[in-house]
Amino acid sequence: MVAARESKAASGTAQQVDVAVVGAGFAGLYLLHRLRKAGLSAVALEEAGDVGGTWYWNRYPGARCDIQTIDYSYTFDPELESAWTWSEKYATQPEILRYLGFVADRYELRRDIRFNTKVTEAKWDEQAERWQLTTSNGAPVSARHYVMATGCLSAPKPPEIDGVKDFKGEVYFTGRWPHDGVNLAGKRVAVIGTGSSAIQSIPIIAEQAGHLTVFQRTPNFALPAHNGPSPADRMDMFQSDRAAYREQARQSMTGVPYPQQTVVSWQLSDAERRERFERAWAAGDLVHILTQLWADQAVDVDGNKIVQDLIREKIRAAVKDPETAAALMPDDHPFGAKRPCLDTNYYATYNRPNVTLVNLRQEPIKAITGSGITTGKRNFDVDVIVFATGFDAMTGAIRAVHPITGRGGKSLTDVWAQGPQSYLGLTVEGFPNFFMITGPGSPSVLSNMAVSIEQHVDWVVDRLAALRDAGFTTMEPTETAQAAWGRHMADCSMVTLHRLANTWYTGANVPGKIQGLMPYTGGVGPYRSICDEVTNRGMLGFKLG
Ligand code: FAD
Repeated sequence: MVAARESKAASGTAQQVDVAVVGAGFAGLYLLHRLRKAGLSAVALEEAGDVGGTWYWNRYPGARCDIQTIDYSYTFDPELESAWTWSEKYATQPEILRYLGFVADRYELRRDIRFNTKVTEAKWDEQAERWQLTTSNGAPVSARHYVMATGCLSAPKPPEIDGVKDFKGEVYFTGRWPHDGVNLAGKRVAVIGTGSSAIQSIPIIAEQAGHLTVFQRTPNFALPAHNGPSPADRMDMFQSDRAAYREQARQSMTGVPYPQQTVVSWQLSDAERRERFERAWAAGDLVHILTQLWADQAVDVDGNKIVQDLIREKIRAAVKDPETAAALMPDDHPFGAKRPCLDTNYYATYNRPNVTLVNLRQEPIKAITGSGITTGKRNFDVDVIVFATGFDAMTGAIRAVHPITGRGGKSLTDVWAQGPQSYLGLTVEGFPNFFMITGPGSPSVLSNMAVSIEQHVDWVVDRLAALRDAGFTTMEPTETAQAAWGRHMADCSMVTLHRLANTWYTGANVPGKIQGLMPYTGGVGPYRSICDEVTNRGMLGFKLG
C-alpha cells in the first residue's frame, strides 16, 4: 500500500527539464554529455536497466559490429579516444557494451538517466510551449525540447507466424537475448530468419546444438569478416593523423574514410575486376567491398551484377551441397541495396552434418505447433526456437510512443499515415521543438552510425543553444521545407539501386507498413554540408518563435 501511494505521488509532479531525451544508447549518451556542456538541463528516459541501447539488448551468440570498431566509436573527445583501445577489428557485443558503460562513467552520465522507464505518450502543450511526456515509471516529464534517440533498430518485429504461444519449448529473440545466456548444448534448435543477427549467430549455435534447422525466406549476401586485430595499414593511417582520419570519415559517403571510386566496371578488364574483388573479399571490410570495387557498383544494374556474380561464385565454392548452395544465393536484389552481412564461417556451417537449411520459398511455414514447426511439406520437432526476424526499422520505436501529439492536436501517426515525412530526418512540421536522432530522412542506417549520431547530436544541441541565446523558445520546419526534403530524398533514391530491393530500409519486412525508402541516400558528407548550409543561411526552412 505504502509503495503504491509513493509511486502515485512520484508520478504526480512532472520533472522539469530543458530537454527530455528518450534512449540511452550511443545517441542518448552523447546527447546528455553535449546538453550538459551547453548548460541545458536534461534527463534521459530509458526502458532498459542500463546504458547501451542496441548493445544492451542484442546479446545473442556472435553479436558484433560490422563496421570496424576503430571507426565505430565516439570521436568527440581525443582524450577518450586515447583512453580506450579496442581488442579486435570487429568488437563483440560485450566489449562494445563495456565501452558505452566506460563512456557513461567517464562523463558521469548515469545520474541524469532514469532506467526502466518507458516513454509512452508525448504531447505538445501550446500554451506552455513545452512537451509533456508520460512515462511507465515515476514522474512524468515536462520539457522545452523532446529528442528521440530511440534507435533505428530497437523495436523487434513480432513473429508473424500462428501458434507461437502453443509451442512448449523455449523461445528466444536475438534482439532480446537473455542476459545470463542460453544453454543450447545438444538441443534441437530452429533459427527463423537469415538476416544479420542470424548470420552472426548460426555458426556458433551450430557448434553448440545437437541439430540446427535454419528457416530461410530471403537469402542475404554475406561477406567474410576475417576478424582479428585491427589491420595495420588502417591503424597507421589513424595513428599518424587522428584528426584528419576522423574528418575524412565525416566528409565521406558512408562515414568511413574511403575515397569515392572514379573507375567504372567497363573500364576494367575481367582480370582487373577479379583482382579488385579478391582483394576486397580478403580484406573483410563491408564498406570496402560496398564502395571500393568500381564507381558504378551501387548505381548501375550491370556494374552491380558483376559483383553479385562474383559473390555467388564464392557461395558455390563454400557450400558442398549444390541445392543448399543455390538456396543460399541471393537473386532478388542488387548487392548493397539491402544491408549485406558480415560473417565468420556462415556458408561453411551448412556443410556440417547437424545443420539443415529449409527454403521457405519452396515450403513456407504453416504453423508453429506444441512440438515444433510445420511447413507445407514437413514437421520439424525442436526444443528451442530462435527468432532472428529483425526490427520494425527506423520508425518502429518512434511510433511506439503513441500518441505523439503536436500543434493543433495533430498526431504523428496520422501525419505519417502514408510514410514518414521529415525535414532533414531531424524534425517534423507541426511538431515544434521535436527532434529525431538518425530519423527517417537522414543517412542513418546507410552510414557508420557513430559518425551520423555525432553529427546529429552536435547539430541539434548547437541549434538549441543558439535558439536560447537568441531569445527564441520554439523551432519547427516549414511545410515547404519538409516537402522539398521529401522531393530531394526521392531524387537521390533514383540514383542508387536501393529502390530495387524490398528490405527493412523500405519497410517491406513489416506486414502492413507503408513502403518507401526511409534512409537518405545522398551520403554522409553531402548531408552534413546541407545541414551546415541550413544553419549558415539563417535556419533555412525553419520557423522560429
Ligand atoms: P539504440 O542503441 O537503439 O538505443 C535506443 C534506446 O532507446 C534503446 O536502449 C531503447 O531501449 C530506448 N528506447 C526506445 N524507445 C523508448 C521509449 N519509448 N522509452 C524509453 N526508452 C526507449 N551500426 C553501425 O553503424 N555499425 C555497426 O557495426 C552496427 N552493428 C549493429 C549490430 C546489431 C546487432 C544491431 C541491432 C545494430 C547495429 N548497428 C550498427 C546499428 C545500431 O543500432 C547503431 O549503430 C547504434 O547503436 C544506435 O544507437 P542509438 O542510441 O541511436 O539507438
